[in-house]
Amino acid sequence: MASRVQVLCGRWDCYVNGGGVEQFVEFTLAVNSLAEHFNRLRLPGLVRLCQGLESAALARLEEATCSLLPAQEIAALQRQLDTLVGSVAALCSETPDRRSECHEAPTQTVDWVKRRAVWIVSSEAGGEYCEGLQKQLRFFGFEVCLLGLDNCPQPGGSPLAVLFVPAQPECGDEGLARISAYRAACPAAQLFYIGGAAAIDPVVGLMRAGVDIVIPAEVQAAMVIDRILDLVRTEERIKHKVLVVEDSRVATALIRRTLAEHGFDSRAIADPEPLLDVLKEYRPDLILMDMHMPRFNGVEATRVLRQIPDYQSIPIVYLSGETDVGMQVEALRLGGDQFLVKPFNPVLLAAVVKTKIERFREAQRSSQTDGLTGLLNHSAAKSYLKSMMNGASDQDRVVVAMIDIDHFKSINDTYGHPVGDQVIRGLAWLLKARLRATDLIGRYGGEEFIVALPDVSLEMARTIIDRIRGDFASLPHSHPGGAFYTTFSAGMSAFPVVSASAVLETADHALLDAKRLGRNRVECASERP
Ligand code: GH3
Ligand code: MG
Ligand code: MG
Ligand code: MG
Repeated sequence: MASRVQVLCGRWDCYVNGGGVEQFVEFTLAVNSLAEHFNRLRLPGLVRLCQGLESAALARLEEATCSLLPAQEIAALQRQLDTLVGSVAALCSETPDRRSECHEAPTQTVDWVKRRAVWIVSSEAGGEYCEGLQKQLRFFGFEVCLLGLDNCPQPGGSPLAVLFVPAQPECGDEGLARISAYRAACPAAQLFYIGGAAAIDPVVGLMRAGVDIVIPAEVQAAMVIDRILDLVRTEERIKHKVLVVEDSRVATALIRRTLAEHGFDSRAIADPEPLLDVLKEYRPDLILMDMHMPRFNGVEATRVLRQIPDYQSIPIVYLSGETDVGMQVEALRLGGDQFLVKPFNPVLLAAVVKTKIERFREAQRSSQTDGLTGLLNHSAAKSYLKSMMNGASDQDRVVVAMIDIDHFKSINDTYGHPVGDQVIRGLAWLLKARLRATDLIGRYGGEEFIVALPDVSLEMARTIIDRIRGDFASLPHSHPGGAFYTTFSAGMSAFPVVSASAVLETADHALLDAKRLGRNRVECASERP
């Protein structure tokens, strides 16, 4: 993180010390890519600071093209930059083990519990709700700090999230001022406001004060916890891939450089002829398509792709010197998603590529996740496991665990289906809270889960799953008449790369052993006689 900030400052220095428009653009690009980085780390406060700086720089781009900016403009940008650098420095000194480092280097200790601070800011009237929330959050490994509404934000803390639980839904000016103070004190935290009214006016007010997520009052504590758990399970990041179809070598070089600056992987072809083969092999997330090329034009290539089921929804963005609006409209009508004109603004290009890819992935995601738990569903988990194992080399290990709740049928029979559902959700949360971002967690069937842990020995994986087993056994599940406890059994198997189905089968056998040997236990395939 610090090195990225150094790059940014270096570029600013280059511009200030006699640089021209190119240095100014380089600086703006660096701000944008830093914003991306913070976004990946889920540090909304820092993203906001970067975006403010980026907008300020973009607003002056025109001016900077002609000459060095006037002194007061430079001073204004300098101030914004200083605030950003200061906030990053404060964050780094508070939390040496930032989230990024956590999953870049998999922890070698057994303790994977991710302790994170969550602050709950509430008036006394929030009492019972807050207590329930606090208890559950603690169980899932969060450090919870309860603050009164009159407390000032504590300097020096760096919570993952701050939850405002007000007594009544409206938030007056005083309340908004208090939220702003928290926003300023905790630039890296995700700010939740629980109990927002379902109208635009108050929600906009809250967002202007710095709230990231407004949750309606009627939403249960369960949903709030789910959102917070999502924060810790930073999405595992595979670089987004862009295929550039462009006949001009100069344009190709410029485009690919811009994409690389923003962390995209790219490949280029100068002619649409090999397009289908390249798509099959490279599997891009988006295609940047030139309009005028020899033999086929971009629109023709796009029309061909849209006939093929696999490519019906892949985002296609035209990047062309074509300025005729009629032609542009026609190109969109025939299957393109957006039209950008050359010469392109690099920041705009990167933003369009990124948002198109994210929307595309989001749409795909909903078909891959399970509605009850938000985990990968059966088929998505299986195909993810396959790609995990395909990517592994002979020395790598992938440990697979099949987990099945014990005597679950009798839970349904005794307490009813909705309570059974809550038990399933509870186990899903526990797995989400305890495992790494790089681990696969899926709901394999009704009360059966699959977990795959890369880069870990079987012994260590066993210790981790066994610890989760112990914790699950002590998790109280509430029902109208009180609380009850339940357990799960797990079967594990680890092989240096064989087929996914073979690993699943042996893990399943081990699970049957665990059931046969009395349940509430973890068995490993390799231990079987
Ligand atoms: P064992 O210890 O051998 O695993 O016994 P069990 O009762 O857990 O196993 P069994 O496979 O007999 O029962 C699983 C039950 O899970 C049957 C099914 O009705 C229930 N179930 C499946 N999906 C859901 C669901 O989404 N919600 C709820 N509440 N129940 C489900
Ligand atoms: Mg061309
Ligand atoms: Mg079961
Ligand atoms: Mg079962």
